[in-house]
Amino acid sequence: MNRQGIGMTSMRTRQRLVQRLVEQGITSLAVLDAVRDTPRHFFVDEALAHRAYEDTALPIGWNQTLSQPYIVARMTELALAQGTPAKVLEIGSGSGYQTAILSQLVGEVYAVERIKGLVDRARKRFRELRLRNVQLRLADGLAGWQDKGPFDVILSAAAPEQVPLALLEQLVVGGRLILPVGDQRQDLQVVTRTESGAETEVVEAVKFVPMLPGVQR
Ligand code: SAH
Repeated sequence: MNRQGIGMTSMRTRQRLVQRLVEQGITSLAVLDAVRDTPRHFFVDEALAHRAYEDTALPIGWNQTLSQPYIVARMTELALAQGTPAKVLEIGSGSGYQTAILSQLVGEVYAVERIKGLVDRARKRFRELRLRNVQLRLADGLAGWQDKGPFDVILSAAAPEQVPLALLEQLVVGGRLILPVGDQRQDLQVVTRTESGAETEVVEAVKFVPMLPGVQR
């Protein structure tokens, strides 16, 4: 990925972030390289750009946040755990940062976001960064993206209270849904679709925004 705005966002600052992710247990070199090479400052307002390489969530408008780099790295690592997925559905693409990371590591990324303002901005960023394997659409991710499925991995940055059946049904057998589940208390879960149903693995406690129904124009 082209490296924009070297200076404020020097390689050293980015290396420090990568080092922090290593200390927190991220081991995938592919993921660490993608974090190092992706201009996170590009996904936030200019006024926040100087904080883009801190391991913290940042506001992106419309009451939403760009996830903390650690959790983006963790979910991406989980997405790659069974080899390189050909097709990934991302729900709640927000700023598009997680999408940009995924686009470097998987075949095709289909992304949905329910807030139009965020979709418009993210689309512009994808064009500028020349991400060619990303399709983004304004839609309610609770319904998945039926026409483009089935997917090898579905990854969500918004938390439903329960695992949505519609999403499980859009996975290939052996495919995995990686998402936060819950209300006040949330767990990051990996739900694997099996021949007969699904198997759930709880990864760790997390805090995400809720998955809300409908779109906001
Ligand atoms: N990974 C994103 C995180 C954004 S926060 C980033 O890097 O910026 C989660 C996003 O999920 C928000 O933008 C929110 O609008 C979106 N969201 C919540 N419910 C949704 C739904 N039902 N369908 C699609 N997107 C949803």
